[in-house]
Parts: sequence; structure tokens; C-alpha cells
Amino acid sequence: MQVWSPNMYNMQLWETSGHAANYKENMFVFEIEKQEFGLKPMNCPGHCLIFDHRVRSYRELPLRLADFGVLHRNEASGALTGLTRVRRFQQDDAHIFCRESQIKDEVKGVLEFISYVYKIFGFTFELKLSTRPEKYLGDIETWVKAETALSEALNEHGKPWEINEGDGAFYGPKIDISVSDAMKRKFQCATLQLDFQLPQRFNLSYSAEDESKRERPVMIHRAILGSVERMFAILLEHFKGKWPFWLSPRQAMVCPVSDKSQSYALKLREQIHDTGYYVDVDTSDRTIQKKVREAQVAQYNYILVVGEAEATSGQVSVRVRDKPDHQVMTVDVLLAHFKDMVASFK
Ligand SMILES: [Zn+2]
Repeated sequence: MQVWSPNMYNMQLWETSGHAANYKENMFVFEIEKQEFGLKPMNCPGHCLIFDHRVRSYRELPLRLADFGVLHRNEASGALTGLTRVRRFQQDDAHIFCRESQIKDEVKGVLEFISYVYKIFGFTFELKLSTRPEKYLGDIETWVKAETALSEALNEHGKPWEINEGDGAFYGPKIDISVSDAMKRKFQCATLQLDFQLPQRFNLSYSAEDESKRERPVMIHRAILGSVERMFAILLEHFKGKWPFWLSPRQAMVCPVSDKSQSYALKLREQIHDTGYYVDVDTSDRTIQKKVREAQVAQYNYILVVGEAEATSGQVSVRVRDKPDHQVMTVDVLLAHFKDMVASFK
């Protein structure tokens, strides 16, 4: 379920979550009616409130809350760089509240989701399981169960993985996902982290099959892209500015050869736009060679040249971004091709 949680909360919430004690210097804090408030640096505490706003039953679990909410972190000004380290950003964030017995399937689901998304971008990734550190919260039995569930999920997922002994967070074990881009550079983008602490701090519970019994849920923090801004920067370099068609903000440019084909060009732009693509038209009075050259430099995926012949036959002369040759086709054939490209993430 997608949720929109508030951007700021009374500091009391951050006391409960532990952010006030451990993370306050990274937060933007201010006063409203003599009370201290903070902009959220993470969505997790807000999601705990959503979980806890009414009595929950085991039948509702796993409860998955996704949130693209805006996060603020007060990074030192010297640490800010481009899109990779910013003070305001969004994550493709989610928190899964589940029972211990559901950890394995939920984690497997997240691993499959990660594989699916990263394959689209042509990223490869490595998996490591970080286990219980020396200082830890909760009882050993829960840790062992959680780590077993994580290793089983990893085994069933099938991709080779390694163990990172003692490198888990004090509040739960995690799976580290390191992504490699086209230039073999490594990034940590995705998060898959088990948490026993926050459900305890917020005193979360649900009723079990025996209704007199309350059980505490386990929380899974998960993000696939991580910071969307940072992922954008990584993708920009990964694709070297040449966005694949499905992701491109400049999918097509229509270039009329002369004034005589201008009205056809405008109509064509409208038709392609109405079908759902990003398309521009160059109605300047420059030569067709100049128009095409400029569209190539601007990295339009398709350059659609139309002259009087095309206007008469209802066709279009199609050039692909980096290729010198062109192909004449009907608009319907072109639009069917666009549809295929998007459907196959090309
Ligand atoms: Zn979280």
C-alpha cells in the first residue's frame, strides 16, 4: 500500500524512535508554538505510527507500506555534491511489518524485486549477509531465527552470496547489496534490513490466532533505488547521457525540411504526444542538416524528418540517435515500434 506520511513531526516522535539521541545533528529542527519539531530524515517512525493507529491482527500481516515522501538531512555544506549528496531527496522507501515466520518469504520477494529492477538498467550486483554484531539488541533466539530466514531466502533466490560476519546493525541483521554499473564502479543503493528495535521502541503489537496473545512484528526496511536523486546521477553516468528510449525525456524530435512540411510536422508532433511520448518539433528556419545535427547533440532517441513527400504519403523518415542511415515508415508503424521499446525497457 502506498502511503503519504507527514514531512515533519513533533520532536517527541524522534525521542521515541531514537533519532533525537543519535541523529539530531543531521536533522532540521525548528519551533512551532513553543514546541520543537523536526523534518523527517527517514520514513520509518511515521510508518510505525501508521501501523499503530489501530489494533492490528495477524491476518493483516505482512503489512507493506511504501512511501516516496520527501526526506531532509542536514548534511554539512562541504559534503554536498551534485545529485549524489543532497539535503532534500526522496527514496523508493518501504517498510514491511511481518511475523517472524514471514521473514523468509518477504525477503525473497524483495530480492526478486531488486533483481527485476536492476536487470532493466543493466546493473549487476553482489549480495552479502551481515550478521549479529558484538553489541546487539534483542534476544539471541530471535537473531538466529532471523539470520536463518535471511540465509534461506538468499539460498532460494539462487544468486551466490557471501557472509559478512558480525557486520549487522545492532538492531538487526541485513543484506548488503552492492551494485556495479557499466564502468564497474560499485554503489550501495538498495537497502534490505531487518529491525527488532523500532517495533519495540514504538511498542507495536498485533493479536495472534489466540486473541488474548499479543505478538511483536518484525520490521523490514527496504529500498530498491535508494535515493532517487542519487540513482539519477548514477544512471546518467551509466548511460553516458544517452538515455534508453523508455526512460528518455527527449524521445523524439520532428524536423520539417521546409515551411511546406511544417503543418504536417506540427500534426505529427501532436499525434505522437497524444499517444504518450516526449516529442518536440523544430520549426526554426535553419537548414535540415543543422536541425538534425542539433537534435543528435541533444541526444533525442529518434529524429523524424518530414518533407513534402512524407506529408503527402502520411509517412516519416526515421533516424536513430547515433546512426547515419534512415528508414521511411508510416506513423502507425513508428508508434507500434515505440510501444515495443517501452514495453521491453529498451
Ligand atoms: Zn526505514
